[in-house]
Amino acid sequence: MRTRSKKPDWQQNIAKERIQILFDLAEKEFKKYPERSRRYVQLARKIGLRYNVRLPKEIKRKFCRKCDSLLLPGRSCTVRLDSKKRALTIKCLNCNKIYRYPYG
Ligand SMILES: [Zn+2]
Repeated sequence: MRTRSKKPDWQQNIAKERIQILFDLAEKEFKKYPERSRRYVQLARKIGLRYNVRLPKEIKRKFCRKCDSLLLPGRSCTVRLDSKKRALTIKCLNCNKIYRYPYG
């Protein structure tokens, strides 16, 4: 069985940089061009897959994994704290997908 070889570090570092740049762009363009913003997110995710780069936690929570829309509180998502379940609930207003993040 062939195992997938790990990409060299320098390539992964470039990939990480590109992902960061694409997410910055996605955030900048979101207000004016939501469609373009989504494409940046899709591209960033593709780069991550190709180079076996995991998206940092803070980026992972910034977009919807179902529809690739950027998640901006009060704009494209709602954020609620469920104190009983001790979880942060984020709802994507584009596709209605709900994410729950436990805390505490
Ligand atoms: Zn969504």
